[in-house]
Amino acid sequence: MQQIPYIPQASPFTPEQRAWLNGYLAGMFANAESGQGLPAGDAPQELPKAPLLIAFGSQSGSAEGIAKKLGKAAAGKGFDPRVKELNEVGNADLANEKFVMIVTSTWGEGDPPDNALSFWEFLSAEGTPKLEGVSYGVLALGDSNYSEFCGAGKKFDDRMAELGATRLLDRADCDVDYDDDADAWIGKAWDAFGEAAKEFTGGAVVEGDSSNEAEEESGYSKKNPFPAKLITNRRLNAPESDKDTRHFEISLKDSGLTYEVGDALGVVPQNCLEVVDEILDVLKFTGEELVEGADGNKILVREAFITSYDITKPPKPLIEEIAKRAGNADLAKLLEPDNKKEFGDYLWGRELIDLISENPNASFTPEEFVGFLKKLQPRLYSISSSLKAHPDEVHLTVAAVRYEAHGRSRKGVCSTFLADRVGEDTPVGVYVQQSHGFGVPADANAPMIMVGPGTGIAPFRAFLEERKATKATGKNWLFFGDRRAKLDYLYEDELNAYLEDGVLTRLDLAFSRDQDEKIYVQDKMIENATELFAWLEEGGGVYVCGDASRMAKDVDAALHKVIETAGDRSAEEAKEYVNKLKAEKRYQRDVY
Ligand code: FAD
Repeated sequence: MQQIPYIPQASPFTPEQRAWLNGYLAGMFANAESGQGLPAGDAPQELPKAPLLIAFGSQSGSAEGIAKKLGKAAAGKGFDPRVKELNEVGNADLANEKFVMIVTSTWGEGDPPDNALSFWEFLSAEGTPKLEGVSYGVLALGDSNYSEFCGAGKKFDDRMAELGATRLLDRADCDVDYDDDADAWIGKAWDAFGEAAKEFTGGAVVEGDSSNEAEEESGYSKKNPFPAKLITNRRLNAPESDKDTRHFEISLKDSGLTYEVGDALGVVPQNCLEVVDEILDVLKFTGEELVEGADGNKILVREAFITSYDITKPPKPLIEEIAKRAGNADLAKLLEPDNKKEFGDYLWGRELIDLISENPNASFTPEEFVGFLKKLQPRLYSISSSLKAHPDEVHLTVAAVRYEAHGRSRKGVCSTFLADRVGEDTPVGVYVQQSHGFGVPADANAPMIMVGPGTGIAPFRAFLEERKATKATGKNWLFFGDRRAKLDYLYEDELNAYLEDGVLTRLDLAFSRDQDEKIYVQDKMIENATELFAWLEEGGGVYVCGDASRMAKDVDAALHKVIETAGDRSAEEAKEYVNKLKAEKRYQRDVY
């Protein structure tokens, strides 16, 4: 006779769970002995799971992507997860949570992203309830080139602790190349949360779908971009314009990649050969020396500079090392914590080539130098096409970054890679970054108000294509602006055709330099306040895309003003109105 197995006392189960499991095993083996197998309806009960809130603040989708992966892995770790935007986490809800993971990026000067702003408002308020029953951990994403590196994550982490919540593990502050640091934090987080949640799960963990590998998306992704072909590269500005905005069409044929309007395309660039050779020359490298590439394999340093590393933005640890090796006391002084502003001013327009040219005494071996560099990062672009209008293609609207600084002509790495350096046979690595709800209104009848000056028009070209292809009946209003109508009116023919066939109900244009007084899209919004407010009252949504530093703030202020004046609301009431729009996902921004 077979021996019936039993769950030993030292196993990580509560006495009740152990008793149930032992009973279950005894029953199963008794039935097996009698040849009956498992009695019908006597399937094992699911092991208990601990509630887990995974809340994200995400501007371009990276933090959201991590949060969703955590959500997928959580069930296999003994948790019952809910993945939410931070703004969806209510004041009272948070105090009732047991376990909370926060994943957030940082925006502007250490600010939370749009979909975490109202969360921060209540978390930082004076009367926020204590969070003594909450256990939490924070994963922060940021860019160490900014002085308030991971500022939003730091704020959330400090404030949660201040309110009495228990920090289960230290925050990780991840730089633009976040994958490895984020994975390391995730590993530690599952250990810490698993341990703390034992009272719920009895330590019982369903192994299997639990590793990070299991969560990796299949197909093409940031880690495995699709080598696409650039099929169209067309300048949208007139030749006399001092702006150079391009319309790119990229073939997705045979990739299996799909996207929704509102998504962004990640593009993997290569550095400019002239810049690479100039740096090799100043550093006195032949280019043939072997160094570690971004994937850990040995490659020639010239190749590494072209494809693997960021060789334009100087990373702070390298600047510190240059100051030390060159004995440059002035530079060392600028690096002191009290001189943040002066250091920022000094860095404005300065690239790596300037630093090494100005400090010829700081010499490095190729391996040493590469050890200080950050990996070359993909750039994101709002997709400006709908797959329904262009099957197998993705279109972009990109401003080529070109400027003069410190006596040199500068070129933005990715925008000029696409504009100038992609040849017939150059594959362009691409992947799709899903948006966090930025897209045409779910209700095909809802009015859509789009504000997209300059390259901000990109997603709205896609929205209009989508609404036309799906025969959506909602009204569409576009506010577009640029410098001069004659030179910078992007997609003029297409927009006029949309006006003619009625897809565009209204088009308001603001060309800032066509008259003495500068006119911007926000001025056009205020000028049309009555009708704009009427569209909002009819259930319309406001979608904004483009420059985050000035335009998005001015448009936000204009929206409040429209509600105050045309809606006859006080400033406080207008703020509430806008918050309601946000909560109903009727005010969405894709700003950069
Ligand atoms: P980089 O090599 O990254 O150089 C840009 C840097 O150069 C700036 O950050 C600044 O530090 C410096 N710089 C620029 N001008 C000056 C100056 N005059 N003086 C001194 N320094 C200067 N861009 C588009 O064109 N179209 C889009 O549709 C679009 N969509 C986006 C969507 C999202 C979600 C995000 C996050 C960004 C989007 N961008 C878009 C921006 C895009 O990702 C790149 O940032 C942009 O193309 C510049 O990248 P680059 O590699 O060419 O320049």
